[in-house]
Amino acid sequence: MALTLYNTATRQKKVFETLKPGPVSFYTCGPTVYAPAHIGNLRTFVTSDWWRRVFKWNGFEVKAVMNVTDVDDKTIKGSEIAGVTLANFTSQYEKIFFVDLERLNIELPSAIPHATEYIPEMIKMIKTLIERGTAYIATDGVYFKIKSFSRYGELAKLSVMKETISRINNDEYSKETAIDFALWKFEPTTVEVAWDAPFGRGRPGWHIECSAMIRAVLGDTIDIHLGGTDLIFPHHENEIAQSESANGATLARFWLHSAFVNVVGAKMSKSLGNIITLKNLAEKNISPLVYRYLLLTVHYRTLLNFTWESLFGANTAYQKLLNQVADLALVEPTTSGTPIPEYLNKFTEVVNDDLNLPVAISVVWRLLDDHSILPADTLATIIEFDKVLGLDLNSATQPLELPPLVKQLLTDREVARQAGDFTHADTLRQQIEANGYIIEDTAHGPKLRKT
Ligand code: AMP
Ligand code: ZN
Repeated sequence: MALTLYNTATRQKKVFETLKPGPVSFYTCGPTVYAPAHIGNLRTFVTSDWWRRVFKWNGFEVKAVMNVTDVDDKTIKGSEIAGVTLANFTSQYEKIFFVDLERLNIELPSAIPHATEYIPEMIKMIKTLIERGTAYIATDGVYFKIKSFSRYGELAKLSVMKETISRINNDEYSKETAIDFALWKFEPTTVEVAWDAPFGRGRPGWHIECSAMIRAVLGDTIDIHLGGTDLIFPHHENEIAQSESANGATLARFWLHSAFVNVVGAKMSKSLGNIITLKNLAEKNISPLVYRYLLLTVHYRTLLNFTWESLFGANTAYQKLLNQVADLALVEPTTSGTPIPEYLNKFTEVVNDDLNLPVAISVVWRLLDDHSILPADTLATIIEFDKVLGLDLNSATQPLELPPLVKQLLTDREVARQAGDFTHADTLRQQIEANGYIIEDTAHGPKLRKT
């Protein structure tokens, strides 16, 4: 069953194959570490994780790279306001970011290059662009000459906009046209965050960072390039212009873009003051994996209008799923079943259709409702699906670690029940509940789950 991807570059779905034998080279534009990530940002990284899992599901190896933007206008400004070094400032947000990834059950990429570690590679690329005449030195920095790259705007389908922008009166710019973008920004010697370069001391523009890191870690042409839809223009357009002018090769074969998260009709962003973080979810007792569940109910290319109601709905569904998996595990141990080919095929068909996870999760529910299948086989199939879904369903199959007091109450209750003292047994049940556990009597004995 072929894996089909929607490529932003062609606005079409196409069957995926690697360019050359070996792992899928996969680059995700990573976080700018100047504030904790909000759940909008995190959607992009969950989507990236799902794609990497789907490639693996199809038998591909994946060389996944995600950068960390630890030097740019926002990080520099933030560190100045905080009165700490850039490295101290960014490292605190980077730590929070990686804890968030772990809580969302996102598998770590194989390489995580930091922009500040690749300055020599950026300088080298800019030098090449100057030598080729596609970049020029102005009074305040080095700029990429848009006119030199005839394919500029193809990714974002920008032809009309390009003309409009180039007509803007550009007297106030030292760059040749308003649309030209900075590869390097000159800095005086008094400024700390700057590096020496043959064309002048300064610091990189944001776009060149990704181009240089991709080339250094993955090579000239990669299979997959992923980011949020806002990156299509100008960031990815500029990456293409720089990389392809410098390397003389196509930058990325497939461009994947993850849609935005909106709150009450507006995009979630720091400047609008409407951001929600995983910390805000924890304050309402909602696990990050509930947010992951919510995300998979909406196709990754569809805008998600975030509401607390929808998150609470996802919480109910996710808890139900965990409970049903736990029930199956109670009947049979996880290892004794065999995944059902009919369901595996259906699941593969939908995840291979441009990551159609909303349908994939409906396959999970359909399987749970299918009582013609042995519980152990249902469980084995679902645990297999979770290799892609990443909902940590295996955790529901593990026996609960009960506190000693609850264990004792449970034993006492069994003794009371066997003695026919149902009033006392009921009192003990209430005490168990007061300790945070719900008790359910099944054919296999009493079963506890957390409230
Ligand atoms: P940043 O840390 O600002 O560089 O952004 C990290 C990622 O989050 C990028 O891929 C952005 O496209 C994405 N992003 C930013 N805002 C949102 C949003 N409201 N919804 C979804 N993705 C977003
Ligand atoms: Zn990038």
